[in-house]
Amino acid sequence: MKKLLILICGLSLIGCGRAPHTKALLPYIENFEQTFKASASSVQVKLSQAVPDFADAVCNKGTVLISLDSWLEFSEVRRQALVIHELGHCASNRKEHVEEVFADGCFKSFMSANIDSDDCLSTHWDELVQEMKEHL
Ligand SMILES: [Zn+2]
Repeated sequence: MKKLLILICGLSLIGCGRAPHTKALLPYIENFEQTFKASASSVQVKLSQAVPDFADAVCNKGTVLISLDSWLEFSEVRRQALVIHELGHCASNRKEHVEEVFADGCFKSFMSANIDSDDCLSTHWDELVQEMKEHL
């Protein structure tokens, strides 16, 4: 019986237990969970071509859809920030955007409405992580 259950889980799109994410996103989701000691298991995160043009990603009713076009354009650091931002909304219930900036004009939070530049994210990464930890 155990073998059968494993086979069904392997084939099923619904999966067993953990929500199915787009596989390429798993390292980013795991990074979020480890960094922030938070669970994203109630959220489904997927790459999609159905995201409105004005957005890089949307969080709606426990599902994060990330624009495939944006994902392909984004650098590694911006991909990480985007997943953190959306899981901040969808998994950790941070509803509001934070638009405060440092003296250099970089956003003080992953939860700014726009994902910041590579330079800003790299320069302030530790502070951004800290801000997020304080609000989860
Ligand atoms: Zn947002």
